[in-house]
Amino acid sequence: DICMTFNSSAESLIKHGFARLVDKKEGMDLLQLAYESNLVQFGENVRERVNFICNCCGCCCEAMIAQRRFSALNPIHTTNFLPEIDVNNCTGCGKCVNICPVEAMSLISANDPKKPNRKIATLNTDICLGCGLCVRACPTNTIELVQRDKRVITPLNSVHRVVLMAIERGKLQNLIFDNQVLFSHRALAALFGVIFKLPPAKQLLASKQLRSRYLEKILNRM
Ligand code: SF4
Ligand code: SF4
Repeated sequence: DICMTFNSSAESLIKHGFARLVDKKEGMDLLQLAYESNLVQFGENVRERVNFICNCCGCCCEAMIAQRRFSALNPIHTTNFLPEIDVNNCTGCGKCVNICPVEAMSLISANDPKKPNRKIATLNTDICLGCGLCVRACPTNTIELVQRDKRVITPLNSVHRVVLMAIERGKLQNLIFDNQVLFSHRALAALFGVIFKLPPAKQLLASKQLRSRYLEKILNRM
């Protein structure tokens, strides 16, 4: 009952007996239960018409397992935050290590000559999702979430997400020219609409990848 789907995907799953309909109140109660159970809550990485919200544990969720094994491929979009550990305050209790669903936290020697056995927590920023579970688990308030240096842009909707992923991977030209469906006027308009709403640095990347004088001219006028 804890994997949530919305919109037409939900209708289809319900129709075929793979899901059941819940009202808003039950949905909110389930989200609260997931929060209290220390599950990682993440939705589809879009700002409008989210199609799913996952409430995941680290042991059997395929997305979490993928993040642990293939973090370099960014199987999951992270939040814009990273935990910061105050090592002077860390007791090395290991609670943050035990709760982290992707094994981003570990204990290392504190290199303290007065206490050779003392350990402190350390973070693998490549794997961390920025979910904040470790912050809640730390009994000494040693961890706080801080903004990542590089901001993660949340796409507006699914089209925005696909375009953004293509730009980040240097494949925008393939997305357009390998997909005949995008030759329709409306699809191209949606695609350009997404590009016009991107921050200037991403617009520049998109323009370079497409090598389109038409797009370049419009962007220069904006
Ligand atoms: S925020 Fe904490 S619990 Fe969440 S992934 Fe990062 S280290 Fe693990
Ligand atoms: S839970 Fe807090 S005190 Fe315990 S190891 Fe992690 S950061 Fe240190």
